[in-house]
Amino acid sequence: MITIDGSFGEGGGQILRSSLALSAITGEPVRIENVRANRSKPGLLRQHLTALNAVTEICGGHASGAELGSSEIMLRPGTVRPGNYVFSVGSAGSANLVLQTVLPVLLHLGQPSKVTVQGGTHNPSSPPFDFLTECFFPALRKIGYAVDGHLNAYGYYPAGGGEIVAKVGASNDLCSFEHLERGDEVSRSLEALISNLPGDIAKRELETASKILGIDCETGCSFRSTDSRGPGNALFGRLEYEHGSVLMAQFGQKRVSAEQVAKRLAKQMRTFEASSAAVDHHLADQLLLPMAIAKGGTFSTLRPSLHATTNAEIISKFTGRRISFETAGSHTVCVVR
Ligand code: ATP
Repeated sequence: MITIDGSFGEGGGQILRSSLALSAITGEPVRIENVRANRSKPGLLRQHLTALNAVTEICGGHASGAELGSSEIMLRPGTVRPGNYVFSVGSAGSANLVLQTVLPVLLHLGQPSKVTVQGGTHNPSSPPFDFLTECFFPALRKIGYAVDGHLNAYGYYPAGGGEIVAKVGASNDLCSFEHLERGDEVSRSLEALISNLPGDIAKRELETASKILGIDCETGCSFRSTDSRGPGNALFGRLEYEHGSVLMAQFGQKRVSAEQVAKRLAKQMRTFEASSAAVDHHLADQLLLPMAIAKGGTFSTLRPSLHATTNAEIISKFTGRRISFETAGSHTVCVVR
């Protein structure tokens, strides 16, 4: 049995999600202590509990400590089975992160499955569903995994009520993921999403961000009015390069002005543009696991986040893969051997 200290490194939910997925994939039982110890509300929140129950169901395993607030859990995996799975977070907790927990398990199995998850689809501090379909899934397909997804309903924090579906197909021959060069910039654009809030918020976000970034709003700005259970707002920035695109997101929050949301997004986009990285820092930490269970690979990214270095250690523990980050001028090269 592998024992993981959930307080090390980043000390958040990703340690739990990666460990659960890797336990199911390798068949190695896992005990995780000090779950999410570095968070203000440590232990299992609904999103993490749903992920634990989801992995347990998919691998026909046995779990202990599967309760809200639990700070120690154990999973004894059984045999992974394909199927038509439905999981509900029961709050606005991220449905996308629950999906990201079970997806590697089903992709590794390489047989057709369908996964529906209900919960939040556009939450702060987690990948918005658009990031999965525009950045994460295309990267997985480059490795040879067959995956696609669609959104049935939007769910914003705190009301939730969203629903996403992912379809996994039989995998082709897997290959290493190689993405060192992003090529020339092809386009830059902004999109504001808004639900049950005054449209003026989106207008101010687009005006402010486009002005800072020198984007012509006539051609480079768009607006998406979405239906959802509660209010919600997100601002996306898309940078399209010859060899792939990047989607950056900021979310509207109470007591944060539309202008502040726009400035944060513009800063994020400028930082990426000033580098020569091909992969942004969020995709970097999320790609390590799918790469490690396939043929590894190499990509250029920004300075590695604590999420990425912590995830790399967890992955190495289960798979024996060596993951390194080497600075090379205005980017970092990540190698999964
Ligand atoms: P916590 O324990 O922090 O409450 P959590 O389980 O929600 O957490 P983390 O361990 O912090 O999550 O992991 C969050 C994941 O969401 C990371 O993979 C991170 O890269 C990703 N993420 C956060 N914001 C974005 C974004 N704007 N776009 C894409 N991915 C994002």
